[in-house]
Amino acid sequence: MFDKILVANRGEIALRIIRACKELGIKTVAVYSEADKETLHVKHADETYCLGPPSSNKSYLNIPSIISVADMAGVDAIHPGYGFLSENAYFAEVCETCGIKFIGPSAESMEQMGDKSIARETMIEAGVPVVPGTEGGLSGLEEAVETADEIGYPVIVKAAFGGGGRGMRTAQNEDDLKQAIQTASSEAEAAFGNAEVYLEKYIEEPRHIEFQIIADEHGNVVHLGERDCSIQRRHQKVIEEAPSPALDVDLREEMGQAAVKAAEAVNYANAGTVEFLLDKHNNYYFIEMNTRIQVEHPVTELVTGIDLIKEQIRIASGKELGYTQEDIEINGAAIECRINAEDPDKDFRPSPGQLEEYIIPGGFGVRIDSCAYPGYLIPPHYDSMVAKLITHGNDREEARRRMLRALDEFEISGIKTTIPFHKLVLNNAFFQQGEFYTNFIQRRIIGEL
Ligand code: ADP
Repeated sequence: MFDKILVANRGEIALRIIRACKELGIKTVAVYSEADKETLHVKHADETYCLGPPSSNKSYLNIPSIISVADMAGVDAIHPGYGFLSENAYFAEVCETCGIKFIGPSAESMEQMGDKSIARETMIEAGVPVVPGTEGGLSGLEEAVETADEIGYPVIVKAAFGGGGRGMRTAQNEDDLKQAIQTASSEAEAAFGNAEVYLEKYIEEPRHIEFQIIADEHGNVVHLGERDCSIQRRHQKVIEEAPSPALDVDLREEMGQAAVKAAEAVNYANAGTVEFLLDKHNNYYFIEMNTRIQVEHPVTELVTGIDLIKEQIRIASGKELGYTQEDIEINGAAIECRINAEDPDKDFRPSPGQLEEYIIPGGFGVRIDSCAYPGYLIPPHYDSMVAKLITHGNDREEARRRMLRALDEFEISGIKTTIPFHKLVLNNAFFQQGEFYTNFIQRRIIGEL
């Protein structure tokens, strides 16, 4: 097992990883930017090093600085968390060259899934269903028009290296298509430094269903069931739950097997997530694989009892899974609300600043993953998440009621948060019945804000 791990991230996920290391008896090294001196991930680590100014490029994305710290501190491994360098194959390669274990999949697996248009091709070859569309990246308008005519409108143009719901545009007809390609590619170029786009059929009112994969470095792959992440705002997840109210045992098994096949096709090791869209006729289509731990991993942990961060560390240290698909049981239901520093009344405008009151909920089945405390200053430089509030119940209705109770107990002042918005969703009759699709917020909630 490793002796010392550097956590190349910030905020709640850095703290989450440090907590897992402590329980495993592993020493921890935190890195931080000048904006994060007072954060809890720095407070709880055994050693801390400042990387530089707040800007991500100069701190959490600064590979030479992070590697120098790793070298100086003498760590065996680096955990990248999510975001920042977590899906950067070059970083994984640099770690390997420097004799430091990257806690995640191999650079090759990351590369194969990192370009979403190549990932589509790989999945087609592996026999995993993908959304109808172009085979690889779009060569130009002509190919786009041809493909769209073939598969039928509406279509969606997507950035090959996209993430976070950016670089995506829909087109209702041929007239829209040219504009959609232009906008999506220039957004992709600006956000991801690569203008490549591809085209998919736009699935009307799908659910976003993703499977948690866990694989060791000896070829054992299992899935830990699904998460339903259909509650999204602008293609970004805001509430996630496990299991999905839309899946029965047979569909879970079928999609789970497809997810395992997807991971095997790229010789995947460590934790990863295979994302699908599910249409109203129970057809499912691969959209992408995320080659890292995800924000919403706690809902899977609560229903399976498996600590995913510890598993990532164990697997990276060369250990075998030690369980098979038959050993995995789903117990009860869990829901996660991402509490963001945003003003739901003002189109979710970011609301960074200092927390005055910060009174957290507690009790049976309530978990909070957060770096915040009373007086904590949420810096404007990074994402706007204040806390992840997660509840577990014997069934979905208990988890839902528990979440509403916990949201009522949660008191944050000094900044605006999305707590009132989450209450609206959790109280909505369609949500309560499990009847929702990716357009739920637009259709059922926006009017009520
Ligand atoms: P990102 O990597 O930016 O998160 P994804 O490919 O995972 O992009 O898609 C994010 C969300 O966008 C999906 O959960 C879904 O709501 C929507 N979406 C993506 N592709 C399609 C599609 N072909 N049809 C309908 N909605 C889609």
